[in-house]
Amino acid sequence: MKIVTSSEELILFTNSVKEKSTVGFVPTMGYLHDGHIQLIKESRHQCDLTIVSIYVNPTQFGPNEDFANYPRNEDRDSQLCEENGVDILFFPKDDDIYRSGKDEIVVSFPELSQKLCGKHRPGHFDGVTTVMTKLLSIIKPNKCFMGKKDGQQLILINKMVDDLFIPSEIIGVSTMRENSGLAMSSRNVYLSETEKDQAIKINKEIESLAQKIENNYRDVELEKELEIARERLESAGLLVQYFDLVDRDKLDHVDNLSIGKYMLCIAAICGTTRLIDNYFIDINGGVVEVDRGIRMVSK
Ligand code: AMP
Repeated sequence: MKIVTSSEELILFTNSVKEKSTVGFVPTMGYLHDGHIQLIKESRHQCDLTIVSIYVNPTQFGPNEDFANYPRNEDRDSQLCEENGVDILFFPKDDDIYRSGKDEIVVSFPELSQKLCGKHRPGHFDGVTTVMTKLLSIIKPNKCFMGKKDGQQLILINKMVDDLFIPSEIIGVSTMRENSGLAMSSRNVYLSETEKDQAIKINKEIESLAQKIENNYRDVELEKELEIARERLESAGLLVQYFDLVDRDKLDHVDNLSIGKYMLCIAAICGTTRLIDNYFIDINGGVVEVDRGIRMVSK
């Protein structure tokens, strides 16, 4: 595995291999877990070369968020990438990504970036779409692998690539979960044992409502079910920022389910840790398909 720290060097490399090989790209903020590894596996399965980036992007953190404390472990991450067959590990530095200092271009979705997580994390998605534009321009991958766990992010990047004619295909990968159902996240390291017990309830509520939708989507009283679930989570000690069912195009709340693509999504604060989770739900005639992710055994 080659470690690259300069974007110039990576541009030269990707230009030189483009003719002969397909390139898969997995953007991450590091502190890798099995969710990230799943993306790497998918990239290796579908592409000739796999490039992973590890960059804790400052512009996607708000002033009171955990940028300074975000978990980092470059040595362990490098080892995991090596063990999992990554070809190139890209560790960019801030001035390699944000080269012109303050007068930076911002790539932004005026409306979609304000919804769901955007409502609670002002500026977050501007940071995400901007850094992804830069990374995709440097690497120019054939395919870019991203987790459905960050559903809104995946939807935005898909739209961005389409809108800006960026010639990379975005591949959404199912959420990897601990055996308890808790979605894997680098931030889970912040949780105490008691908080973990609370956090597990997030997935329990999503799962329970998804089952009701699967069984009889036409008759589910969504409004009522969502409200009851929010109350249960609040009484378990979580601070629910949103628990909603939205369409996957405009990210608007949905009252009645019919044929379409939806996301059942939640963000809640557990102790001091903000956690998110979601299921992608597709309704096609009488068939309801729920992507609930994959539970790892013995974690
Ligand atoms: P992060 O390092 O948290 O920015 O995540 C990097 C990529 O990994 C993003 O595309 C995430 O959606 C994806 N990811 C994070 N957690 C999971 C998970 N539990 N399962 C699948 N993908 C994930």
